[in-house]
Amino acid sequence: MTRSACLILGICMKTLYLDYAATTPVDPAVAEAMTACLTMDGNFANPASRSHRFGWQAEAAVEKARRQVADLLAADPREIVWTSGATESDNLALKGVVEYLRSHDPGRRCHIISSCIEHKAILDTLKWLQQQGVDVTLLSPDADGLIHPQQVADALRDDTVLVSLMAVNNELGTVTDIAAIGALLKSHAALLHVDAAQAVGKVACNVNVWGADLVSLSAHKFYGPKGVGALYVRRQPLAHVAAQMHGGGHERGMRSGTLPTHQLVGMGEAAALAAANFEADVIKLSALRDKLENALLDLGGVYVNGHRQQRSPAHMNLSFDGLDGEILLASLAQVAVSSGSACTSASVEPSYVLKAIGRSDALAHAGLRFSLGRFVTDEDIDFAIEHVSRVVKALRK
Ligand SMILES: *Cc1c(COP(=O)(O)O)cnc(C)c1O
Repeated sequence: MTRSACLILGICMKTLYLDYAATTPVDPAVAEAMTACLTMDGNFANPASRSHRFGWQAEAAVEKARRQVADLLAADPREIVWTSGATESDNLALKGVVEYLRSHDPGRRCHIISSCIEHKAILDTLKWLQQQGVDVTLLSPDADGLIHPQQVADALRDDTVLVSLMAVNNELGTVTDIAAIGALLKSHAALLHVDAAQAVGKVACNVNVWGADLVSLSAHKFYGPKGVGALYVRRQPLAHVAAQMHGGGHERGMRSGTLPTHQLVGMGEAAALAAANFEADVIKLSALRDKLENALLDLGGVYVNGHRQQRSPAHMNLSFDGLDGEILLASLAQVAVSSGSACTSASVEPSYVLKAIGRSDALAHAGLRFSLGRFVTDEDIDFAIEHVSRVVKALRK
């Protein structure tokens, strides 16, 4: 079926959204808070305007949001730097650390440890840093998609300045033992950066338990708006990062640009909701995910990609024996899922993450990521089981 035929059919067919790891819809409560920060009768002013009431009100709203995001991480509000999303936060963390060190010692040797299953926002930034003379070690996951603390310990060198690992893998949902890695870095000068874009609302995010110096967040992965994120920057001891965006000196000089009040208020509200609903969300998501997964495993010839226990409750990545992922994806007209990550779904290359855990080209091509979220119901899961089972059986005939 062509894409346009799918689109025409899609208009009159129910389609269930199971791609929450690509992005989430904005929660209605978040949308309401954002709407109140746009128009003349709302909180529209420039938060940096110090000379009038309008500016003070916008600043108060931004500072409330800063506290909400800080609370989510058990951080201090002064440790939150607003950005445009996790891509920018990742860039600021990685480039910022190297640039700060080199600005004080131009000949400084810099080594960074990361993994080959990181998001492209990390991998492409590391590639760029390599061209600037930075030495990079990319750790490989085991067959379950896990990076082990011992691998980090073994890769540490005197010139290691940064370890950057994701808390939850976006494709597999596998959870990295960040706290153990933070603990072993206590006796080393290297900073710890955590890409936590997929972690909020799914695993506990606490910068002190993690021992993290820098943490990237993205609002649109947890029911906030797209185009806004944050970088947590530890104050004690201070994690130094050089600004990548100059002009105006906002965000304590680390990220200039007029603060988008509506975006930040949206992210703050979303953070408060994520924190308040954390336990209930995890219980609900894992029950629904397990129900869907067990039913699809019953089809036979279905493999779970990634560790089944050490995993986000919202993620599920399956390979279907004997089926091409692209054809399966196109045939699943009534459930919106993704093959690999959203960022790589434009290319027909097998997922680099599935290849890294040792899946053959065929099984890597046959991988599908289902990701659940706040608005999925038990009836939706019944619908998904019925639809996916029917399509898989028909394609296998
Ligand atoms: C989505 C995502 C990003 C990019 O976040 P944006 O806010 O969309 O730039 C980075 N890292 C991970 C792990 C992600 O899931």
